[in-house]
Amino acid sequence: MATISIKCSHISDGTLPPVCVRCGQVATTRKFAWVADPKAASWYLSRRMKVWGLLLFWAVILWKQYVRIEPHGREAGLPLCKGHLEYWPRRAWFVVGGFLALVLFFTLAYATDPSTAHHQKMNLFSYLAVFWFLTYPLGFIIVHMSSMRVIRHDGQRVTLVGANKKFAAALKESHPEYAADKKPTHLQELKQLFSEYVR
Ligand SMILES: [Zn+2]
Repeated sequence: MATISIKCSHISDGTLPPVCVRCGQVATTRKFAWVADPKAASWYLSRRMKVWGLLLFWAVILWKQYVRIEPHGREAGLPLCKGHLEYWPRRAWFVVGGFLALVLFFTLAYATDPSTAHHQKMNLFSYLAVFWFLTYPLGFIIVHMSSMRVIRHDGQRVTLVGANKKFAAALKESHPEYAADKKPTHLQELKQLFSEYVR
């Protein structure tokens, strides 16, 4: 997997090579042109949002998928193969759905709490709430850290982690200007990883 900084203009004009960003196979379509949009990034990469920003990235994916749907017929965005078209939405459903379930379980546990001074037993929803409270954050961290995702947007370029090396190679071939990009060292990648969390 590779960390690459893609020019926003190449995302929005649809000139990225037809190689799946995730697996390096032939891409059938382009999607998620909004990653080039600095306004969306100002939400999910904002330092003000702190840890919520991590959750927001996935919320934006669902928002753009179902609420503010990207116009059809415009071939722009990240090239993806058939199998990876739903790569982000699937994960977003887990992250956002899991978070909503957590809120729901706690609300239900609270609303249906039968405990009085005489009767102090946990009900089903309390068990569910506690179980999910212990499970979900771990699942979220694993999914988030292991996924391809946007980690930076400087107005000109979008930085993706977890992209495929074949895509990175194809990008250099189709746009020689990327050839000058230095490959980040392992230390730099590690620092980058931490700077995302330690704010
Ligand atoms: Zn793919």
